[in-house]
Amino acid sequence: MNTLAILGGKPIIDYPLPLYPSIGKKECDAVMSVIASGSLSGFYGSWGDEFWGGTTIKQFEQRWSERFHIKHTISVNSNTSGLIAAMGAIGLSPGDEVIVPPTTMSATVMSPLFYGGIPIFADIEDETFCIDPNEVRKKITSKTKAIIAVNIFGHPARLSELRQIADEHGIYLIEDNAQSPLGMEAGAYTGTIGHIGVFSLNYHKHIHTGEGGMCTTNDDHLALRLQMIRNHAENIVEPVHMSDLSNMIGHNMRMTEMSAAVGLAQLEDADMHIDRRTRLAESLSSIVAELPGLTPPAVRENCRHIYYVWTMKYDAAVVGIPRDVFSKALNAEGFPNFTGYIRPLYMLPVFQQRTAIGRDGFPFILAPHIRYEWGMCPVAERLYSEEFICFETCAYDISSEILSDFARAIHKVYEYRHELASAVMSVSD
Ligand SMILES: *Cc1c(COP(=O)(O)O)cnc(C)c1O
Repeated sequence: MNTLAILGGKPIIDYPLPLYPSIGKKECDAVMSVIASGSLSGFYGSWGDEFWGGTTIKQFEQRWSERFHIKHTISVNSNTSGLIAAMGAIGLSPGDEVIVPPTTMSATVMSPLFYGGIPIFADIEDETFCIDPNEVRKKITSKTKAIIAVNIFGHPARLSELRQIADEHGIYLIEDNAQSPLGMEAGAYTGTIGHIGVFSLNYHKHIHTGEGGMCTTNDDHLALRLQMIRNHAENIVEPVHMSDLSNMIGHNMRMTEMSAAVGLAQLEDADMHIDRRTRLAESLSSIVAELPGLTPPAVRENCRHIYYVWTMKYDAAVVGIPRDVFSKALNAEGFPNFTGYIRPLYMLPVFQQRTAIGRDGFPFILAPHIRYEWGMCPVAERLYSEEFICFETCAYDISSEILSDFARAIHKVYEYRHELASAVMSVSD
């Protein structure tokens, strides 16, 4: 009865977990009415009313600005596009340095490369897993143009402190807010404290449009440049008298009217979607809080965590078996978890082989003194290799019955973990 599933016992959760029902009738109706109108995009890549997009896009951007208390919102087709547009908008030039954390989705650290910028990795905090302002300070040079802070897992980075550092040095703070819509620090929404915030609306996030992203800023000039990069800037520089032509080569990063219609519906229900995941994460935290060696995610004072990923820290010395064995045993009981989150991004081939744009090592040839090697960010490396155990809160629809089963699974593995110690060799691959 109490044999661990990984050792051949019966798993606690032996039924498929239902997926989170993020799309409902409201979204369907909204898309159908756009389709019925026949106007699937209102954008045109030249100057005029249609430069700004169609009616649904404009409405979605306006609602977003109201909801997040920000002056400008620029919709794009992904957070990745939004980050690239942000790097272009701030005038990033080849050889400029951009300080980034190593623990994030890869798009964060790739964005500077598109303009020849050099990503400079600064370690993260042990408690909140966001970029550490003290490490950021050490990395600032005369070449630093921006800091990209990531509100990782849904918890705000030390945004006001980072903004202050940026302002002191006359550089930009960009927030990658993909994982933290409606997160808060000291009463302000994440994504609105930096010079530009970038949100993701991809399928896996709290609220989504399938694919999509939103850029937010209070700065009129940055807003215009973001809009231009989104939509064929080169055609617009003359009519708007843009004197600074740097990076005014445009893309097509435009969102469709259908996506905007879904986004409007999702935004209306954002609190409901986010609260459901937050309650789930808080319940998971209270389950593990009692178990020595398992540390639930921290929430810094005056902050709101919205738990895109619920991430606990595992202490093998206290629990007595290796993390990866514990994680596999939990998976075998039917509690879907993963370890590590992400290998520190400087270990990606692009950095190890210093090959990004073209064959000849651009832009890394502009920064021969910058090294990318294991050992650079010890906190990020330790959390990745030894401590993180994660649960994707947006994936499943977790009822209170399933939640009790999660609790039973965690308690079962914890209680019988010593049976695993002897079997460690056979389960670790
Ligand atoms: C999801 C994510 C992205 C990429 O978002 P897309 O909309 O898929 O381009 C970037 N950064 C972080 C931190 C993310 O979680």
